[in-house]
Amino acid sequence: MAKIKTVYEDCDILVVGGGMAGTGATFEARYWGRDLKIICVEKANIDRSGAVAQGLYAINCYMGMQWGENQPEDHVRYARNDLMGLVREDLGYDMARHVDSTVHMFDEWGLPMMRNEKTGRYLREGKWQIMIHGESYKPIVAEAAKKSADKIYNRIMITHLLMDESKENRVGGAVGFNMRTGDYHVFRAKTVIVAAGGASHIFKPRAVGEGMGRTWYAPWSNGSAYALPIAVGAKMTQMENRIVLTRFKDGYGPVGAYFLHLKTYTRNGKGENYEKKWYEQTKKLVGEYIDHHPVPTCLRNHAFIEEVKAGGGPIHMVTTEAFQDPHLEVIGWENFLGMTIGQAVVWASQNIDPKYEDPELTTSEPYVMGSHATCSGAWVSGPEDLSPNEYFWGYNRMMTVDGLFGAGDTVGGSAHKFSSGSFTEGRLAAKAAVKYIQDLGDEKIEVNKKQCEDFKEIIYKPLENYKVGRNEITGGTVSPSYILPIQGLQRLQQIMDEYVGGIGTNYMTNENLLKRGLKLLDMLQEDLEHIGAEDYHQLMRAWELKHRALTSQCVTEHTLFRKETRWPGYYYRGDHMKLDDENWHCLTLSRCDPKTGKFTMEKAPLYHIVDEKKKEAS
Ligand SMILES: Cc1cc2nc3c(=O)[nH]c(=O)nc-3n(C[C@H](O)[C@H](O)[C@H](O)COP(=O)(O)OP(=O)(O)OC[C@H]3O[C@@H](n4cnc5c(N)ncnc54)[C@H](O)[C@@H]3O)c2cc1C
Repeated sequence: MAKIKTVYEDCDILVVGGGMAGTGATFEARYWGRDLKIICVEKANIDRSGAVAQGLYAINCYMGMQWGENQPEDHVRYARNDLMGLVREDLGYDMARHVDSTVHMFDEWGLPMMRNEKTGRYLREGKWQIMIHGESYKPIVAEAAKKSADKIYNRIMITHLLMDESKENRVGGAVGFNMRTGDYHVFRAKTVIVAAGGASHIFKPRAVGEGMGRTWYAPWSNGSAYALPIAVGAKMTQMENRIVLTRFKDGYGPVGAYFLHLKTYTRNGKGENYEKKWYEQTKKLVGEYIDHHPVPTCLRNHAFIEEVKAGGGPIHMVTTEAFQDPHLEVIGWENFLGMTIGQAVVWASQNIDPKYEDPELTTSEPYVMGSHATCSGAWVSGPEDLSPNEYFWGYNRMMTVDGLFGAGDTVGGSAHKFSSGSFTEGRLAAKAAVKYIQDLGDEKIEVNKKQCEDFKEIIYKPLENYKVGRNEITGGTVSPSYILPIQGLQRLQQIMDEYVGGIGTNYMTNENLLKRGLKLLDMLQEDLEHIGAEDYHQLMRAWELKHRALTSQCVTEHTLFRKETRWPGYYYRGDHMKLDDENWHCLTLSRCDPKTGKFTMEKAPLYHIVDEKKKEAS
């Protein structure tokens, strides 16, 4: 290890990941912490990193309070309904009451917003969405972060969190490596804000072979957001609440703008509206939740999945009507050219012109994330003015490890944040982190050299494994002494697909399958000790896989724990097919013991804060 250079850096606030939440955190940290040293570390380059790298066509979370369009309470009710009752309402409310100010800053910073010509307001696409010309969205928010940080480090993947050695259960920074130079980086920090996005590619994707890498959520979202805190014993919540999306087939193009703005609709292979066919059957599974408006996302997936299982596929999006209007046709194409270019390319390559042919839809493989119609992630403290005792331990968005904060996809319980809400949550976490540092006063964080050197040994081990094992290569890339990242990834995806409810089983699993899945994941973990990396890029792939594998274990433990099918259409527990409000109207929590690697599970109470407040007032 002698030839690998070590670079030390001390700071007050370390932001891990410079996506939407990370740029928001970096920006806000400077606002409240004028004299603090703030560093943001990003695996890619913050100008084009994260889920918004290609741009977006809509900001999906904007209240419009200045025009009386929606109030934060409305958003809490909306998210609660969509997640079949289970969200952290304190976190959702807190995000919603601040999100408009974030969007107004984006507007000031030059993000091209579309406006309603008659009213002058932002152009609405749906109740919560406003339309943007968002190809430049990410560089714009990146600029705010660059102007705020003392330093932005691009191309550094954070692999582990450091712990303070002077106080139990307190974070002390993070370590990682630069995937271009190979340098080892140690960041000793008083607070760490993890904003490392969600997790794709843990379940086998629909697109394989030459389509590998085509996923709906960003393929570079590798679950670091979860693995980093899990590894140091932070509690996680709702990790079973993985999301499945209805998307345009093969290119995973989002359908939201099509439904909401172009007013397109779906029908089955025979040209029928199939959703109502499944009403009675769904009602038997989930009761009155099927009568809620809007119909929860998972239940719409459920009708889709059942229809295809019953032989009614393929399901089409009817675009041929809307696309006869030249304006809507342009919007339909621009929607993808500014957000998911791959979908436009797939249509072109398959000779699909949506003006003349209705494109196929499909349901995606599951993803783990905390900012969409799903809320997996870290268990964090809420704000002091809203949160009940069980949800509050001193600092907003702080995890159960002192000094460790989260935002965006990292944070569990607060669904429907999307890009603007994730940026907002980054701001909230950063404000609280500054307060934490102020309260620390002169107290120091202690991270000794041994802890850093031990991690160095661990991080670069895949390079050593390869160096030795390559002498035994038998066929092209196969060596008996190591497993390559791509081989390990495909094994992980197969385990998750077959045992934890992926596309291969129509999202179905049960206790026996999950227990077997956990055993196979344990064996995978053993083999990952022998992962080989031929260069620094593959070293990143190796660590991405390790983070994906730990995230997957946590998802599987949670799925085993919740003995009901709360979200049909996201996954099914075949041995508990019904929603069970009597026993499971609660949140699930896990903790992985950092010493043994064993998970323990518990239930946490669910509070309907918004309507309780209303009841108190009346
Ligand atoms: C196809 C698609 C369409 C979407 N459509 C919309 C939409 O129309 N409107 C809307 O508002 N939202 C939309 N979203 C959702 C929105 O993009 C996310 O909610 C938001 O980006 C989440 O923010 P985040 O900061 O948590 O994650 P990200 O923005 O993904 O940022 C995570 C960052 O962490 C970095 N990172 C990861 N691991 C590490 C590590 N170990 N070390 C260092 N850095 C790391 C990543 O490179 C990335 O830059 C869409 C997302 C996708 C993928």
